[in-house]
Amino acid sequence: MHANYIAGHWVEGDGITRNINPSDTSDVVGVYTQATLSQVDDAIAAAEAAAPAWGSTTALQRADMLDAIGTELIARKDELGRLLAREEGKTLAEATGEAWRAGTIFRFFAAEAVRLRGDRLPQLRPGVDVDITREPVGVVGLITPWNFPLAIPAWKIAPALAFGNTVVLKPAELVPGCAWALADIISRHGVPPGVFNLTMGRGTVVGQAILDDPRVAAISFTGSAATGKRIAEAAMRRLAKVQMEMGGKNPLVILDDADLDRAVDCAVQGSFFSTGQRCTASSRLIVQRGIHDRFVSAMKTRMDSLRTDNALLPGTDIGPVVDARQLQQNEDYLRIGRDEGATLVHGGERLRRDTDGFYFSPALFTDCDNSMRVCREEIFGPVAAVILVDSYEEALAVANDTEYGLSAGICTGSLKHATHFKRQAQVGLVTVNCPTAGADHHAAFGGRKGSSYGSREQGTYAAEFYTTV
Ligand code: ADP
Repeated sequence: MHANYIAGHWVEGDGITRNINPSDTSDVVGVYTQATLSQVDDAIAAAEAAAPAWGSTTALQRADMLDAIGTELIARKDELGRLLAREEGKTLAEATGEAWRAGTIFRFFAAEAVRLRGDRLPQLRPGVDVDITREPVGVVGLITPWNFPLAIPAWKIAPALAFGNTVVLKPAELVPGCAWALADIISRHGVPPGVFNLTMGRGTVVGQAILDDPRVAAISFTGSAATGKRIAEAAMRRLAKVQMEMGGKNPLVILDDADLDRAVDCAVQGSFFSTGQRCTASSRLIVQRGIHDRFVSAMKTRMDSLRTDNALLPGTDIGPVVDARQLQQNEDYLRIGRDEGATLVHGGERLRRDTDGFYFSPALFTDCDNSMRVCREEIFGPVAAVILVDSYEEALAVANDTEYGLSAGICTGSLKHATHFKRQAQVGLVTVNCPTAGADHHAAFGGRKGSSYGSREQGTYAAEFYTTV
């Protein structure tokens, strides 16, 4: 039984979560207790009590702890990657990479802690100096999703602690194992009791309690747009600082002058890696007429060679989807796409493998129109829709015709079009001749329109949210 971590102690709650391996539903990864409401209250009280002393530690003390946490994550990346692959279903290679990345993020923010700067402004009145300083916000509530169960908590916890805040983390119900492993590591590197707390449980219970508590000064959330709107409303009601990363309906534009092999690489990685369960996944492939047929045919050939199988097998390219609900959602969208008149040219089948899991082959639709639901709604699975266009101008217009604005990519040999697209795509992250993706961890991550709310995450930019001026 894995317990919650509250005020420096491991405490058992009452409800139980069993996380199931989506590659093999007979494999229970672990058993985790859910925090009770009074334990959530204890965690917030502990975080509040610990905040003044933690905020007064030196940046170097905090940096040393974060560095040690990051170093342990990196040293244990294979073991943690295995846990992640078993719990969430991304391939072992992707999962190990994510564990490494989580460690690197802690080490990055160790260095950021000692770089936080203020300002001294010139005098406007004789003898009066004006100093601008950045101070900790206080208790921050972190609510995280299942799709990056190590990296997303890491990129919230690390800057929160680096800049002197105390933390209550509520991880997604499907992935308590990775959160527990992170808490276990954090608990062993000198972080004082109450500074970091883990409260596992349901969003509508544990998450909501954190959200509604006036002692929690700031909330950072990553998850679905629907939940994000509820979080925003609750935070606004009590004027808490809030930062939200939600969905995407990310376009990858492929122009006639693109390198075909490269464009196919970008589309396959962007649409299907991590089983398409990424808010930055390319779900709309906007393809110019002159390359369209060659692109579709090359995609089909490449997709033939992708192995969808158990995430823990070395030959697997695409792991299972995370659970039965996601599997159903993918299948629903296949039906919706067909009913709307899109043509399914590859994949989209439930697969049987040696173990009983949520296997679904990557799916490619053609003959799509941007008004179709498969082009407007986030599917969060390995389903991509090809939209035919006649010009760069039309491609840009289609790319921007969405309520979302997280990431966008363009494959082209034209510097003029690439440069124009970088400025005009209404998103937070633009890639050129690369798959749509999240930013490297030293850059700003976040989007525009319905994808994000509040200031950017990661990199130097994270200080905006985790400090107050
Ligand atoms: P998904 O549907 O992919 O699980 P969600 O946006 O529902 O995505 O979940 C993201 C995170 O938000 C999870 O940790 C979840 O438990 C949490 N959550 C869901 N509902 C609420 C809520 N009402 N208040 C606070 N947190 C919530």
